[in-house]
Amino acid sequence: MTDCIFCKIANGTIAAKKILETDTVVAFMDIAPQSPVHALVVPKSHIRNITELSAQPANITTDVVAAINSVAKECGISESGFRVVTNTGDNGGQTVDHLHFHVLGGRSMTWPPG
Ligand code: 5GP
Ligand code: ZN
Repeated sequence: MTDCIFCKIANGTIAAKKILETDTVVAFMDIAPQSPVHALVVPKSHIRNITELSAQPANITTDVVAAINSVAKECGISESGFRVVTNTGDNGGQTVDHLHFHVLGGRSMTWPPG
């Protein structure tokens, strides 16, 4: 999609601090980190949010999960623990309409979220 920030990061038009990239997924550091480690794991294809994910080829989901775990290991938070969040729609607080999973770690998280 031409006017989508995460499509542009995925295709290299906009720079980001990338952690990993596969044929289907890219992961990069969030521009406004909410924890010492705050990465975003994003499928390269433009999927609006998780409500559209199950209609996609199954490998997209498995590739995203594998990337989340690779990012956690790469960023050193796999053992200490981390949180995965995908904000969905208006009430979910989604601000970028391209599916992404926040991977947050490096500090203790609180619950419930705001
Ligand atoms: P959402 O609010 O949709 O769950 O999350 C969107 C996230 O994308 C936010 O945490 C925001 O900081 C991040 N973000 C927005 N624009 C950019 C950008 O251009 N580069 C990077 N690296 N992160 C971005
Ligand atoms: Zn997009």
